[in-house]
Amino acid sequence: MNFQSILLPGIDDKRPLMISGPCSAETEEQVMETAHQLAKQGVKIFRAGVWKPRTKPGGFEGTGVPALQWLQRVKKETGMYVATEVATERHTYEALKHGIDMLWIGARTAANPFAVQEIADALVGVDIPVLIKNPVNPDLELWVGAIERLYNAGIKKLGVIHRGFSTSDKTVYRNIPHWHIPIELKRRYPDLPIICDPSHIGGKREMITTLSQRAMDLNFYGLIIESHCNPDVAWSDKDQQITPDTLGELIENIVIRDTTQTTEDLSDLREQIDELDNELLQLLSKRMRVSREIGQYKLEHGMPILQTGRYSHILKDRAEQAEAMDMSDEFALKVLEAIHTESVRQQFEVMENSKK
Ligand code: PEP
Ligand code: MN
Repeated sequence: MNFQSILLPGIDDKRPLMISGPCSAETEEQVMETAHQLAKQGVKIFRAGVWKPRTKPGGFEGTGVPALQWLQRVKKETGMYVATEVATERHTYEALKHGIDMLWIGARTAANPFAVQEIADALVGVDIPVLIKNPVNPDLELWVGAIERLYNAGIKKLGVIHRGFSTSDKTVYRNIPHWHIPIELKRRYPDLPIICDPSHIGGKREMITTLSQRAMDLNFYGLIIESHCNPDVAWSDKDQQITPDTLGELIENIVIRDTTQTTEDLSDLREQIDELDNELLQLLSKRMRVSREIGQYKLEHGMPILQTGRYSHILKDRAEQAEAMDMSDEFALKVLEAIHTESVRQQFEVMENSKK
């Protein structure tokens, strides 16, 4: 895929591309007040949800078409570009009719190929930038599928928004980031701009700065941050919105590390990493050989492959050892589980082969 890197004319490509505005367009006053304050902070792209997908009916589901007129006013009075979420063909037509500059597809919609296709079909022949949020579930292929649907409809000004993934686990996040997923996306499509949404990942104001910094350190292109002239009384997502002033501080304090300059100095260290990876793989292969020998022994003595007592002991012992070596036990457990799975697979292979 060949993406067009400039999403909107006149926005310089200095990172981070900043998009900000309220979760929802609530009233004309709230929208205008927030927009004027954001414009003062130098924000060039204003976001506001006009149609709100809610888990249960009865909550604030957005103001709909009248709010699009408030966004037109924002455009006229502040010169900012305006962006909103679309989830259906009707939303898309209304947004286009009202001169909205950029659209985004929400996480719930991105998880539904029918809905994404409906929006893509409505956009055939239209030149407008579209940002696609990751689907609520951690499924990279589904995300890629949504990107392809828009691309095939002729939309070349595409970007993605990483907003984290739903989880039933109790975590500090509202939506767990699974950073490896956007990183893999970036590896596959280096030209596709990735924008991080720390508001929806963290779910709390206090986490926005740290998450934004992390996204910049991962070389993400931009940030979309929810802001409100009076966050405490916001009609939706009030815990994760900040004031335009606080956003201004964040913009001032964020550190953008210059990637091109350091790459050369890194070559020595990268060589070391290549060598160490090579040694790691050789060690793992040796370990697998010993595992297969154990498999052979178990086979000859009629022993089962899985011996849970021994496995638990290994996990506990190695996790402690890893901690003493400045690695997290969580990391050590993940690595050991992966090694154990492969070990067991290889021992099964020994058993299978013996039957042939
Ligand atoms: C939003 O941006 O306000 C929103 C509804 O986000 P998401 O689709 O990521 O839940
Ligand atoms: Mn929101």
